[in-house]
Amino acid sequence: MVKLAAAKLAARTILTKNVIDRLRSEDDMKIGILAVQGDFAAHAARLRELGAATVEVRTVADLDGCDGLVLPGGESTTQLQFLQEEGLYGAIRKFSAAGHAIFGTCAGAILLATQVKNPAQDSLQLLDMTVLRNGYGRQLASDVFFEPCKLTSKPLEMVFIRGPVIEKVGRGTSVLAKHQGKPVLVQNGHVLAATFHPELSPDPTVHAYFLKLAANGSALAKLRCRS
Ligand code: GLN
Repeated sequence: MVKLAAAKLAARTILTKNVIDRLRSEDDMKIGILAVQGDFAAHAARLRELGAATVEVRTVADLDGCDGLVLPGGESTTQLQFLQEEGLYGAIRKFSAAGHAIFGTCAGAILLATQVKNPAQDSLQLLDMTVLRNGYGRQLASDVFFEPCKLTSKPLEMVFIRGPVIEKVGRGTSVLAKHQGKPVLVQNGHVLAATFHPELSPDPTVHAYFLKLAANGSALAKLRCRS
């Protein structure tokens, strides 16, 4: 009985994987990048190197047809205000609820967190974690480190620029890398966040991983629409 259930599950997993591969592949992804401030151009360049098309997102309509969304660094307060004023706050939450992948770096990670401190501010609440803005203090505010990361066998270069500290992650959030004992790259389902700036390092590992999440997210969103 148990064996039969396991065989059925395996068959379904293979079937789902084949369907996903047929529906979407990582190199025909269209990725939106919130383009209000910060290094959105560096994210776009990296994603294009990896074969994705990119679109700058400033309005709700810009999100149409996107398979994934990047929320870049900058100043989270300014970006949050922009999202609220342009109706993007609700649109991004809907985009995520449809299963599409979202990747926030630094200020973008702050926007995704369920709880923001120092000072407390509103957020999209899409990734179960508590963040402390500018939590590394003045000296360590901006620097480059190499740390182990679950996505690659080599230490990963991490550029920190007045990044937040992830104080706590929720049960469903996995920690993919740490710095000074604190999580710096975390994932909850199709939502990924880094407190550093992978777009400023030559290693494409994190963006390549995000494209996989976007491909899976879009394929599953399509399957859901069909059924
Ligand atoms: N310190 C910024 C904030 O709190 C984030 C910095 C960054 O994105 N590089 O919003």
